[in-house]
Amino acid sequence: MTGPVWLIGAPNVPLAACARSGTDLDAFFAADSNSPNRKQIIQAKEICASCVEQEPCLTYAVENNEEFGIWGGLTSAERRALQRRINKEKQNGTTA
Ligand code: SF4
Repeated sequence: MTGPVWLIGAPNVPLAACARSGTDLDAFFAADSNSPNRKQIIQAKEICASCVEQEPCLTYAVENNEEFGIWGGLTSAERRALQRRINKEKQNGTTA
């Protein structure tokens, strides 16, 4: 299984925390399981929290409606919630 970072094709991919050897890439998809493994989800989120690519990674995932995986520290459900907030703020004219 590939991690989210390899789908980006960004020039700084080697800097991505999930590209480090030994990273449990399955953890990035634990939230998509029928029986999510909370420990793996926390592990993936901690890796994202230390990643220099967190912001562009999350932006990419939201803009491209990535359905699966933890990107930029957010699960797919969390990204959908973020997108709903963004859409609502746009409707209310509260964003720049
Ligand atoms: S934010 Fe997370 S998923 Fe995105 S590149 Fe960094 S470690 Fe990988």
